[in-house]
Amino acid sequence: MHSNFKVGSQILDIPSNRGQRRFALLLALLIIVISLAALPFGMKNLPAFGPFLPIFISWFIFGDLLTAFILFNQYRASGVPSLLVMSCTYLFTGLITALHILTFPGIFSAEGMLGADSQTAAWLWIYWHGGFPAGILLYLFVGKRHPKPLTSKSEISMYAGIGLILTIAVVYLLFKLSTGWNHLFPSLIEPRGYWRVLETGVGPAVGVVNLMALVMVMVRFRARGVLHLWISVALLALLFDILLTLFAGTRYSLGWYLARINSVIAATVVLCSVVNEVNRLFIRLSDQHKQLLESGKQLERANEELVRLSSLDGLTEISNRRRLDEIISWELVAPEERHTPLSLLILDVDCFKAYNDHYGHLGGDHVLKTIAQTISREVKPFFGFAARYGGEEFAILLSGLDARGTYEVAEGIRLTIAGLGIEHVGSTASREVTVSVGGYCLPPFQRIDEDEFISLADHCLYEAKNGGRNRCVVTGWVKEPETAGVKPRLAD
Ligand code: GH3
Ligand code: MG
Ligand code: MG
Repeated sequence: MHSNFKVGSQILDIPSNRGQRRFALLLALLIIVISLAALPFGMKNLPAFGPFLPIFISWFIFGDLLTAFILFNQYRASGVPSLLVMSCTYLFTGLITALHILTFPGIFSAEGMLGADSQTAAWLWIYWHGGFPAGILLYLFVGKRHPKPLTSKSEISMYAGIGLILTIAVVYLLFKLSTGWNHLFPSLIEPRGYWRVLETGVGPAVGVVNLMALVMVMVRFRARGVLHLWISVALLALLFDILLTLFAGTRYSLGWYLARINSVIAATVVLCSVVNEVNRLFIRLSDQHKQLLESGKQLERANEELVRLSSLDGLTEISNRRRLDEIISWELVAPEERHTPLSLLILDVDCFKAYNDHYGHLGGDHVLKTIAQTISREVKPFFGFAARYGGEEFAILLSGLDARGTYEVAEGIRLTIAGLGIEHVGSTASREVTVSVGGYCLPPFQRIDEDEFISLADHCLYEAKNGGRNRCVVTGWVKEPETAGVKPRLAD
């Protein structure tokens, strides 16, 4: 089956389909049109809706950390280094937005928490909006410099650890810069608004980095992979987020609200695409798992059929010699546990060579099949086991009958076969096909080896042949104490 993945120069690059590209384009156009249309009215002040920022930031933090987590697992599974960079980028934005909301004035406390001053939240916003495209640029760089996946588990874990520690360290450093070290940087927030984000050039610089990242992702991948397609949309949304924020100039203005919505779009599209791909992979995996189970079952059935066939005789379709030997040895293996007598009958078709000579080999085959089916049917009521012993000889195993009972069953079979009335002009025994039967009944608990058991029954068959054929001779254990021991019984 053709794989959809290219673990190569970049990430697990699942190709985007036309529907996904169209949807992304539609969303991008919506972002552009709505943002541009709102730009002239961006400064319009709207009511300060207190819960708006915490709700939106919570969504953002959750989305980014989840994306980071999924990408991190993809890195661990694939060993593609650039995936680690992408994962760390999302971890970075998740953490920095958490600090942004904690330090934002008027949300958790009037001044903002964690020792924030009036500038802290604004600077964290700058780091967030600059950090994300910077992370994407680093991702592109690492993807180009280290296109090959890491193979050693320890190397993968080591870089994962380094990435995690570095990300947390950078977040910590930036947080420190935005709290205790603000005097080193221009102030961004003034009572009239945050116009200085624009005037100092800090905001435009962040915008340029975003634009650079967007252009580079577009040029490099042309939206061919699903993840790259949605990263392009996310960068576009962030770009307009910055643009609207800068134009709006004050918090809780129309532009400022719209900018936050763009941020949410940026965080959501990539998460949705990643989750969607995970879902698709899961569905494919479970399909393959089902196929695997099905082929396992087929194999099992084929094996069972093979076992069945290996114990059947090809011509007569009753059990073969191999199966007979198996069953006899099971029966004889633990005589101390065998509470019932066990009888073995051997049947031999009389003058069968002459039958072949007269009616042809195929005619002989047909007779063997008929006799096999007859024997099989006849032993069923006695729970007996019938097999083709070889050539024109058959064997029957019976349990729970003494020599007398065994003899009666043998006689029944002999008479039934003779009663089939299959013409046999070359027989010295009869005008029809007949069989001679030799049998031996083994008493309960008696130890005997297989060869000896067979030879005792065979000996009786010899006697039956010698006695004129078309008859049964059974010896062995007889139930009545006075007749216990070997007592031949002859037909007629
Ligand atoms: P007896 O009454 O003493 O058993 O005489 P017989 O001719 O049956 O004895 P013998 O063992 O000499 O011959 C057995 C014949 O059975 C020889 C062989 O051609 C035939 N035979 C063995 N297997 C098959 C088979 O699969 N198909 C056919 N058509 N004949 C078979
Ligand atoms: Mg024979
Ligand atoms: Mg024979």
